[in-house]
Amino acid sequence: MTTMIPVGNAGFVELLETFGSDLTVVNAARVSFAKESLEFTSKDEGLIKYLAKYHHVSPFFHPQIRMRIKMPIFIAREWYRHTIGFARNEVSRRYVDDEPEFFIPEICRERDPKLKQGSKSEEVKNNNLCVQAIKEATTKSHHIYKALLEQGVCPEQARIILPQSMYTEFIETASLAAYARLCNLRRDMSAQKEIREYAEAVVTLLEPKFPVSWVALCKTD
Ligand SMILES: Cc1cc2nc3c(=O)[nH]c(=O)nc-3n(C[C@H](O)[C@H](O)[C@H](O)COP(=O)(O)OP(=O)(O)OC[C@H]3O[C@@H](n4cnc5c(N)ncnc54)[C@H](O)[C@@H]3O)c2cc1C
Repeated sequence: MTTMIPVGNAGFVELLETFGSDLTVVNAARVSFAKESLEFTSKDEGLIKYLAKYHHVSPFFHPQIRMRIKMPIFIAREWYRHTIGFARNEVSRRYVDDEPEFFIPEICRERDPKLKQGSKSEEVKNNNLCVQAIKEATTKSHHIYKALLEQGVCPEQARIILPQSMYTEFIETASLAAYARLCNLRRDMSAQKEIREYAEAVVTLLEPKFPVSWVALCKTD
């Protein structure tokens, strides 16, 4: 089974481990009546659908998921807004000064005048020129970063020159309910395309692990 999905030019979502299953959700709910299911049945499937439909979410807090994720900082800033039910530890550029990697888009999308946030799917007229400008600015920052380190500047200050497109990496542990909430919000067309791709990768990894709960909790359109 796939455990790592590449995203963007250097990013990925890797499923490190999971705790629990659909049965874990069922038994967290059944304890209210001092009952337990030993095998997952169609009755249990019905219970999961009922729990999700009526927002009885706490049984979905019990399965846990650990991921290693590499994404650009501008996406991580959005991802980190999802706080409840998540634990994260991230690489620190105070301590690490190895070669940074950067997200470079192949397509610069047009601004959508109808939306305050968002973009059209069409590329801008001068796409090649715009992508080239992004590459040049990124390369320049990278060179200055290396020059600062060569001058003996500490990594925690040299990093201030690095752009938001720099990749960062973190380990994230969260409940099934927390990932379902994040994916519902970040798969929506109102979310930025680049974060939608990460949310889709999470869906691909988690749906086979918690098939009944995932469908019950998540919007599928
Ligand atoms: C398309 C999109 C656009 C966005 N644009 C912006 C933007 O322009 N600017 C911006 O700042 N953010 C923006 N956000 C971030 C957004 O406001 C939320 O912070 C983010 O979606 C995390 O939501 P969450 O429900 O997963 O939050 P979590 O912090 O993980 O909270 C989970 C749930 O716990 C409850 N909760 C958490 N904290 C509180 C609290 N203090 N009081 C009461 N209940 C609480 C709520 O029910 C909440 O839904 C955007 C998000 C999306 C999806």
